[in-house]
Amino acid sequence: MQQESQLATPYFMIDESKLIDNLKKCQQLKQLSGAKLVLALKCFSTWGVFDTIAPYLDGTTSSGPYEVMLGHETFGKETHAYSVGYSEQDVKDVADKSDKIIFNSQSQWQRYRHLVPEHCQVGLRLNPERSAAGQDLADPARAFCRLGVTESALDKTLALGLDGVMFHMNCENKSVSSFAALLDHISAQFSDVLSQVSWVSLGGGVFFTWPGYPIEELAEVLKQFSLAHQVQVYLEPGEAVITQTTDLVVTVVDIVDNGKKTAIVDSATEAHRLDTLIYNEPASIAEASQDGPFPYVIGSCSCLAGDQFCETQFDQPLQVGQRLTVQDSGGYTMVKLNWFNGLKMPSIYCRRVNGSIECLNSFEYQDFKHTLSRKSISSI
Ligand SMILES: *Cc1c(COP(=O)(O)O)cnc(C)c1O
Repeated sequence: MQQESQLATPYFMIDESKLIDNLKKCQQLKQLSGAKLVLALKCFSTWGVFDTIAPYLDGTTSSGPYEVMLGHETFGKETHAYSVGYSEQDVKDVADKSDKIIFNSQSQWQRYRHLVPEHCQVGLRLNPERSAAGQDLADPARAFCRLGVTESALDKTLALGLDGVMFHMNCENKSVSSFAALLDHISAQFSDVLSQVSWVSLGGGVFFTWPGYPIEELAEVLKQFSLAHQVQVYLEPGEAVITQTTDLVVTVVDIVDNGKKTAIVDSATEAHRLDTLIYNEPASIAEASQDGPFPYVIGSCSCLAGDQFCETQFDQPLQVGQRLTVQDSGGYTMVKLNWFNGLKMPSIYCRRVNGSIECLNSFEYQDFKHTLSRKSISSI
């Protein structure tokens, strides 16, 4: 059996048993609430582990045409297609692979409704102009937001032709009461539309797999919403499914000291863990110890001056060659991997429940080369 200590870094390690822990919470929520859960592929689309995930969920939802194809091909069950902006070709490409097509605007819906086949239901994203989303960049309630139709812009006669509606207004929301308040707001604001549709997707960002989250209370809130409007409720979890299941393992390749001791590792947030940078959210290192006497910056090996994983402390001085485990690196990471600086791409592994380690993907120089060109102009 392959020993983890012999794997070349950098690599992601998906822990199947931790994934199943989250999936059991998904299952519990479904059973108690009657809601259906579709995985948001934009957060996590490492389809090599879909055999583990699919039995617990009802399908997938997407943010772009290739995710629709991937969900249809590798996950099965229900395939929801959503896009902020479809081209005509996009709609043609996804139509026969989708159970539901959700448009972001009334103009997209009007332009493409004739292309939606009989078997496929039509939904529209609505924007309740309220959210529990934290950072402005990811907040659909930010001023002039293009995501979904607001109440004042909604043409209620058009809405008669809809099968369902979608809302997405949470991000890592750990509070049932704030989620319930958002639903009360939606119920009042959009009561006419809600009485006409047969399903409502409440989007992602509800962090019900967080330790201690009161799943029963959430289930009750969802059930009441579903009863009040006589609709099938959906949630579209991404991060909640994948949280705390996956580590990024890196090696210290150098230690420099320009006023602060900085361990340089064989990975970069800009290439392999982009949200650390975009949202300015420092990573956690499993080997660190809160009161350790040896502080370090965990610096990346990209050329970007501010690219670092975190600042943290250790009980012992770090050594070149030592491995560090960047915790909780599953959601919004593998989907955003890029080849910036020509760094080595992390391999992707899964530790199965029985302890065996499966390699889902590994990359080499040719992969880097081929993302940029397949041939040179002189050979065409
Ligand atoms: C991002 C997104 C999701 C998933 O959000 P998580 O925070 O990962 O649960 C679901 N639905 C829509 C429309 C999204 O944009």
